[in-house]
Amino acid sequence: MQRSGSEGAVVPCVEVRRLVFEFLDDELAQPQAALIVEHLTVCGSCTAYFTFERTFLAVLRRRVPIEQAPAELRDRIRTALTDRKRSRPPD
Ligand SMILES: [Zn+2]
Repeated sequence: MQRSGSEGAVVPCVEVRRLVFEFLDDELAQPQAALIVEHLTVCGSCTAYFTFERTFLAVLRRRVPIEQAPAELRDRIRTALTDRKRSRPPD
């Protein structure tokens, strides 16, 4: 019998992914943060998702040079930066 990634986890994958940015920003209160950490220890696909988003945020905030990001992420970051410039009101 094949087990899916979310089976047996307290928090469903969709909920974990919905909270990814709050979690990465340390804005998530307990016990949700602990539940997410617990979910990540058992769910490989969410771990990959979180790793991707964490790198995305780090590059956006210039903590990590864009060259260190994977190619697929670089495209997404460039798109996000372009959208940001376009949507941001002039200072
Ligand atoms: Zn998951």
